[in-house]
Amino acid sequence: MKRIAVINQKGGVGKTTTTVNLGAALAHHGQRTLLLDLDPQANMTVHVDKRPDMESNTLTNLLIDDTPLADLVQTTGLANLFVVPSDTSLAGVEQVLANRIGRETILRRALDKGKAEDNFDFVLFDCPPSLGVLSANALVAADYVVIPMQAEYLSLQGMAKLLEVIDLVQTQLNPNLQIACVLPCMLDSRTNLSMEVLAEIKEHFGDLLTKSRIRNNVKLAEAPSFGRSIFEHAPDSNGAQDYAEFAIEFMQKIGMHDVAEAALAALAGDEEEEEEEFEEDEEELEGEEFETEDEAAGSDEGAEGEVPEDEVTENEVTEPDAKATPQPLAEKAIATTSPEPPLDDPELVERSDEPPAAAEASADA
Ligand code: ATP
Ligand code: MG
Repeated sequence: MKRIAVINQKGGVGKTTTTVNLGAALAHHGQRTLLLDLDPQANMTVHVDKRPDMESNTLTNLLIDDTPLADLVQTTGLANLFVVPSDTSLAGVEQVLANRIGRETILRRALDKGKAEDNFDFVLFDCPPSLGVLSANALVAADYVVIPMQAEYLSLQGMAKLLEVIDLVQTQLNPNLQIACVLPCMLDSRTNLSMEVLAEIKEHFGDLLTKSRIRNNVKLAEAPSFGRSIFEHAPDSNGAQDYAEFAIEFMQKIGMHDVAEAALAALAGDEEEEEEEFEEDEEELEGEEFETEDEAAGSDEGAEGEVPEDEVTENEVTEPDAKATPQPLAEKAIATTSPEPPLDDPELVERSDEPPAAAEASADA
């Protein structure tokens, strides 16, 4: 079993979005995955369609009352994906634990005692935007750290502090802890600053910086309100494509090459199927056109009288789109020498002047 802390003390950088969608991708690839909501804001709980403050047992019970893990785990709408929800009561936990000896190791002990090892392939911790006791528990319990970040100047400042804390945990409490990767989220290629900061991050982190990039994508921002992962909410969106690629790269980075290979093959299969469907659609479309022409030729009233105007317009508009088959995920995910993937998101057009509120807030910080 691999334990993963998704952490960055900076707010609104994509931790919860990454936890849920990485978890969903792993679950899709047959990995039994448990998500733990370590944030009193309980955003992840909402994202997987649970209701904070209405769940009888939450992570607070595990940390404060020693409730066994098995009593807290809930199913989600996705096979293989499980969750321990949280609610606002978690906010009081830091204070309650303040003077308790061994407070940073509670989660690790609970997972060991609850035999999480026997039941799950992955446990993912969604951390709060702070470096208190809750985040410390995640770092002590984790094997790997995933750091989502935005490509902006202030993100780099926060990163230095985070690395200090990770280093401290490594030397004092959890020598096995490793940074798996740094994942750029909500990327907007239209700003030169993003690209400059990315280059600087690459200098600092080298290969820890993922090749995958999570582009700004409105579907990712919508998905939580539907209580679904991006793969259920908008499987054809850039967001789904980016997180599918990232999940494979992540598995490669932590040495799960077999599962990554199988996932790549499955994605390549999906792409082929989609291409076949496009071809079939195109054939049908061409067939319809011939039919229309034949009908028109056989008609005394002429072509224009037979074909409704809006039908013509629709064909003209949709045909070029149907041909814009995306590059197969498999190729993109394994490409090592290819240039950076294009970052402009056509879906952004819908929200061109509306960056995510959280992103705005963090830019102001
Ligand atoms: P917090 O620190 O408050 O826990 P976080 O780091 O968990 O925040 P998220 O909640 O994942 O960040 O993301 C912040 C906001 O940005 C959310 O509204 C989310 O839906 C949205 N968002 C996340 N990733 C993207 C993206 N790639 N494109 C557009 N919106 C995004
Ligand atoms: Mg969050």
